Amino acid sequence: MSHQKRAVVVGAGFGGLALAIRLQSAGVATTLLERRDKPGGRAYVYEREGFVFDGGPTVITDPTALEELFALSGRRMSDYVDMLPVDPFYRLCWEDGTHFDYANDQEALDRQIHARNPADVAGYQKFLAYSKAVFEAGYLELGAVPFLSFRDMLSAGPQLAKLEAWKSVYGIVSRFIQDEQLRQAFSFHSLLVGGNPYKTSSIYTLIHALERRWGVWFPKGGTGALVNGMVKLFQDLGGKLLLDADATRIEVEHGRAASIRLADGSQFPVDAIASNADVVHTYERLLGHHPPAQRRAASLKRKRFSMSLFVLYFGLDHHHAQLRHHTVCFGQRYRGLIDEIFKGPTLPEDFSLYLHAPCVTDPSLAPPGCGSHYVLAPVPHLGNADIDWDEEGPRYRDRIFDYLERFYMPGLRQQLVTSHFITPFTFRDELNAYHGSAFSLEPILTQSAWFRPHNRDADLPNLYLVGAGTHPGAGVPGVVGSAKATAQLMLDDLAMP
Ligand SMILES: Cc1cc2nc3c(=O)[nH]c(=O)nc-3n(C[C@H](O)[C@H](O)[C@H](O)COP(=O)(O)OP(=O)(O)OC[C@H]3O[C@@H](n4cnc5c(N)ncnc54)[C@H](O)[C@@H]3O)c2cc1C
Repeated sequence: MSHQKRAVVVGAGFGGLALAIRLQSAGVATTLLERRDKPGGRAYVYEREGFVFDGGPTVITDPTALEELFALSGRRMSDYVDMLPVDPFYRLCWEDGTHFDYANDQEALDRQIHARNPADVAGYQKFLAYSKAVFEAGYLELGAVPFLSFRDMLSAGPQLAKLEAWKSVYGIVSRFIQDEQLRQAFSFHSLLVGGNPYKTSSIYTLIHALERRWGVWFPKGGTGALVNGMVKLFQDLGGKLLLDADATRIEVEHGRAASIRLADGSQFPVDAIASNADVVHTYERLLGHHPPAQRRAASLKRKRFSMSLFVLYFGLDHHHAQLRHHTVCFGQRYRGLIDEIFKGPTLPEDFSLYLHAPCVTDPSLAPPGCGSHYVLAPVPHLGNADIDWDEEGPRYRDRIFDYLERFYMPGLRQQLVTSHFITPFTFRDELNAYHGSAFSLEPILTQSAWFRPHNRDADLPNLYLVGAGTHPGAGVPGVVGSAKATAQLMLDDLAMP
């Protein structure tokens, strides 16, 4: 009698969790190993003095991809977590005091676009049609395809060519829209998944259509509640989650991954291993003793990595009713600033910020009358700017607080109850991210689809990747899509029905 197939997934980020759920749902005995004390990865939760701070993702799009994970075993997501709609999706603000509420209400959008530039009302419709076409081809058809062979890439070629995928997000937006602030409003999205709007393939305009189609959501209790719901689902199915489980070495025998070792010396034999950890970490550290993996790590290190982030979490004894749930605060420079963020070599003087005020949707995340917030600034990764963040961090925090107080949150400093921040050092040291990148490999065309690290390793046939570093890429819908592509391969290889 053959034994029940055993798989280990290293890393409990959204990608690792989604994959573990898929494997366990299909009858593979799955162990999920997470080195930190809580699951979630970039979606780690900090709790301080009665305030709950989601560490990372807050804009949850495509709930259908998440619902699918529950439906695999005949369950309903709504029994595990409540999803609340966010409206407007974002408020976009500029220093001249103007703002644009990006919502799913066409009339409200048209009115605001018209007020800025009447010609852009028709231009926006053309942009939306373009974005929908990319969404159909790039997300619905190719989002969960594993892209193992160049043939897969060639067959996607005609579609990509038709959509002019070599153009940049900003380039395409500018073709349809004239007003500079509107161009910013419809091109910043790629930054949310680590892409430079001037360099990232126009395929990423699909995020716009995706948001218009399924909306923007926020889990009641925060993104952490969604992570907990997924963990509960995995455990209800019989899956095993081990926390404080730092994987250190994948043992190779007869050309296959045979087992995985933890820092505490324990060892797990496997039929298959998937790594949700950073791709460079996976090849360089977990497989440091295996020459083909060393060569793979060396070639990955020559690729371009996304920027890092400085994220400042703060709780106030005041609720700023003027804020919306998601605010993007554009600085005076757009192109020049983005250029410096992606290239370094120093920390730009100015910034553009994303401000999260979740109590607008769910007041339970802070004590009564108070507000939990985070503000993030994209910053160069450590390979592009060798900044000592232990020294720079407190200075940068103060500059951001000054800026927020001046433009968006009067009285902030007097209202401050608690604050802490994470820097590129946190991404490097806590999450094992190469160069402290927040989003792994930069999503440019030459590092996408077949050109991205494949969902199955080319050398060890039972080693797989899942998460931001593999196809299709970063962002919650991206990594959940990667889990679908990887699970498909693993279940075929393990000959599961
Ligand atoms: C501040 C911030 C805001 C964001 N906002 C959004 C948003 O609003 N919407 C959106 O869609 N996306 C957003 N993103 C992007 C999104 O969060 C990520 O792309 C996605 O969560 C990454 O998931 P992942 O599966 O690749 O794993 P990760 O979250 O990177 O998790 C990997 C896990 O592996 C673990 N690990 C690493 N090495 C080992 C080891 N050796 N042994 C055991 N475990 C290990 C790590 O501890 C970690 O838990 C944001 C990202 C950040 C940082």
